[in-house]
Amino acid sequence: MTWQARINSALDKRRAADAFRVRGVVENGVGRFLSREGRRFCNFSSNDYLGLSQHPQIVRAWQQGAERYGVGSGGSGHVSGYTTAHQALEEALADWLGYPRALLFISGFAANQAVIAALMGKDDRIVADRLSHASLLEAAHLSPAQLRRFAHNDAAQLNVLLGKPCAGLQLAVTEGIFSMDGDSAPLAALHDAAKQQNAWLLVDDAHGIGVTGEEGRGSAYQQGVRPELLVVTFGKGLGVSGAAVLCSEPVADYLMQFARHLIYSTSMPPAQAVALSASLDVIRGEDGAERRARLAEHIQRFRRGVSELSFRLTDSRSAIQPVIVGENPRALALAQMLRERGQWVSAIRPPTVPPGTARLRLTLTAAHEPQDIDTLLEALHVSCQ
Ligand SMILES: *Cc1c(COP(=O)(O)O)cnc(C)c1O
Repeated sequence: MTWQARINSALDKRRAADAFRVRGVVENGVGRFLSREGRRFCNFSSNDYLGLSQHPQIVRAWQQGAERYGVGSGGSGHVSGYTTAHQALEEALADWLGYPRALLFISGFAANQAVIAALMGKDDRIVADRLSHASLLEAAHLSPAQLRRFAHNDAAQLNVLLGKPCAGLQLAVTEGIFSMDGDSAPLAALHDAAKQQNAWLLVDDAHGIGVTGEEGRGSAYQQGVRPELLVVTFGKGLGVSGAAVLCSEPVADYLMQFARHLIYSTSMPPAQAVALSASLDVIRGEDGAERRARLAEHIQRFRRGVSELSFRLTDSRSAIQPVIVGENPRALALAQMLRERGQWVSAIRPPTVPPGTARLRLTLTAAHEPQDIDTLLEALHVSCQ
């Protein structure tokens, strides 16, 4: 087989499965509206859950940061790219979330890759929720450690899998709020199962941080659980980009030695760290609390409305409200019908979700108005007839 033949065959298979991915170009894809090809849609597909990506205070902070530090960090944090802005943000994150240390990463994807690669050796075992994000499962696959998956949110099965003989150390892996179903992990039960087997727990709270819990501290704090490793990402609730790992002093020192994504990669621009500190201030303050309350009202309004239609929802209480449709063509057709009615939603298909569970992944945000939810419900109503 030639390279060309291999690539063509892979593309043909994707097309045949109705799973060919393309990117649409948007003029603006965050906030209440998405603009594309000169048309304006109500935006139900961004992860900017609190609408902070366009918050004037945070935009201004980024500008001021750029004026003070320039636009790039100039190197890895291990060389010259760790500024007072990075340090202030790490300290603020550690203080907010109640951990001794926070280490910044360029993205959630990089943080998950780095932590799993740095921690796991060949005698070790990773036991991950089977619906964990691609960045976690991919890292686990690439690692020399054994990978076992437990049934979604099933602490008893986690306990069983961790109880099997293992020559090395074990890491349990889950998310706070699941990206495709929007439901929450039972973190206390999972942490108990891990502790019983001397395993550590890693929680990726990409969708919970900023959005749930007192002062937006996320899923773990809300459930009274303090995992040994907490990954938080900044491209969703915080409205910016980047990520951090929250951990103990020795684990932070260890990651500084062995996390290659930290050592061999340019640190985030200092201006971005300044913007993130501003985002954190908003989230912890009254404005953040109001945004979380508004989002919670939208979620209630939406679920109440959909329960009167013939769609299947998940038991999500979060901003992620998937409408499970089943087969790929139906999901695509439904997304298309909604777009014709001015509603921008994304159809999510296998392999991102299990076969037969193609869905519309709707995300509600604090940037929406109550009438946006009503208009969406009306469009869903018409589309399902
Ligand atoms: C979005 C997401 C990531 C990736 O974070 P980025 O900062 O966008 O790279 C990681 N984990 C989960 C659970 C996510 O939803």
